Amino acid sequence: MKITLSKYAGFCEGVDRAYNMIKKMASDPKVKKPIFVLGALVHNEDAVKSLEKLGVVTISGKKDFFSAIGGSAYGRKDKIGTLAITAHGMGPEIYDFAKKKNIDLVDTTCPRVIKAQRLAKLFSEKKYQLVIVGEKDHKEVKGIFEWGKKQAQFVKKENDFKKLKLDPKKKIAVISQTTQNQEFVRHAWDVLRKKYLKVEIVDTLCLTTQNRQGEVRKRAMKNDAVVVIGSPTSANSTRLWEISREINPKSYFIERKNQLKKNWFKNCQTIWVTAGASTPKWIIADVIEYLSGLE
Ligand code: SF4
Repeated sequence: MKITLSKYAGFCEGVDRAYNMIKKMASDPKVKKPIFVLGALVHNEDAVKSLEKLGVVTISGKKDFFSAIGGSAYGRKDKIGTLAITAHGMGPEIYDFAKKKNIDLVDTTCPRVIKAQRLAKLFSEKKYQLVIVGEKDHKEVKGIFEWGKKQAQFVKKENDFKKLKLDPKKKIAVISQTTQNQEFVRHAWDVLRKKYLKVEIVDTLCLTTQNRQGEVRKRAMKNDAVVVIGSPTSANSTRLWEISREINPKSYFIERKNQLKKNWFKNCQTIWVTAGASTPKWIIADVIEYLSGLE
């Protein structure tokens, strides 16, 4: 059995940068402790746990954030030492709030997400109607929406085009969630260009994500089975699996090694393995070791 690992599997530059920044800060005596991260730094339970071992606390929502300021989050008496923003980014309010409360803030927002946020801000200031191609409940998209003065409309699936309430006489700007399916994003551009005259499109898709998705399209066809490693909470991992299963029904989405089943690979000669941008390398290594043992 031939097992091939994708050259793009695992942490992308943005996640790698954020993870290493926080790890470094955890052992830096000059950084005020405890470090509280606003939401999971990486959409992967094992990676979050590895940071918790270094004393980094994950706050799951706004409620936790406010109790942390008061010094009662997770039963801790100590207040926030340093607040960290994840690679997905946040809206402008949190920056203003931290400044007002004199909280040390570390921003690990991925530069590619910052680009989308700044464009949302710019277009809303220029009074464009903003359309975001993406999942409105995803953390990154919520942040972009807030930078766009909370006035954007969303497109995630075919049915959403009918629901848009856009004035055709006014200018429209289209940006997208960085990790969206590039085929759907291009389709959205076509639909909106055909329907409206004053449409300005900006490509905010992440190149790393496009490479991963392009590779999965090619490989899913050429291999007997595909294993995508990632958390179901990770948008880019889920997208890889969705693309793969459309091409190859023997596409399996797992978070870690113990979810693999031997019978999935019966009669398979070739298995291709990929992983989302938030999957740590030690989990990938475990999966490869298990699959290699099946031969
Ligand atoms: S997937 Fe792309 S945009 Fe998202 S954190 Fe990674 S590098 Fe940045």
